[in-house]
Amino acid sequence: MFLSSSPPRACGACCRLLLTSSTSGLCQTCVEDCTEVAHDHGSRVNALFAYEGSLKAPLARLKYSREFGVARLFADLLAPRIAALARGRSVVIVPVPMSPTRRLSRGCNHTELIAQWLPLAQLGATLLPRGVLTRAHRPAQVGLSRAQRLRNTSGAFSLRARAQASLRGETVLVLDDVISTGATLQGCFEALSRTGADEFQGLALLRRVA
Ligand SMILES: [Zn+2]
Repeated sequence: MFLSSSPPRACGACCRLLLTSSTSGLCQTCVEDCTEVAHDHGSRVNALFAYEGSLKAPLARLKYSREFGVARLFADLLAPRIAALARGRSVVIVPVPMSPTRRLSRGCNHTELIAQWLPLAQLGATLLPRGVLTRAHRPAQVGLSRAQRLRNTSGAFSLRARAQASLRGETVLVLDDVISTGATLQGCFEALSRTGADEFQGLALLRRVA
């Protein structure tokens, strides 16, 4: 009887069996269905892929169907871009926080879960502990116009007073799942702005055209 030393792997997006080795964890069809977004060095806010593509479905499974194992796929996809952004500097990664109400209804903060799967030591990165940056409960952003999103996130984020000096001189990378207007990341930047951090960057998995 033939025994394989490693279990068969499935594509992280469509769950089809991976017949050839894949560094991304995706099958060839799903890789071809991801449109990479070019990194804009002039912008503080970037994303890896366009929203419409093979990663939209697994993200929805992670967010709404509690398929928490999918977080690892996204961490693997984000890690090389984070390494490129860090350029050897130490980086503090801040997953966009969720309000306690939303965390309870979703079962976890999926962005935080993705961040926990990142190879932090290898990236020279640390995670801002949960509860340092907090988010007030507001209606979900989905379906809101740009102006409504900006109003919805304005003042929603706050930073624990005793943490204000802890990011002095650091490069801060705020991590989100989907960017559309950038209002959520902007809200986080504002709340973190009094920390004396050296630089703020925002990175999302997917970019939705607003
Ligand atoms: Zn696939």
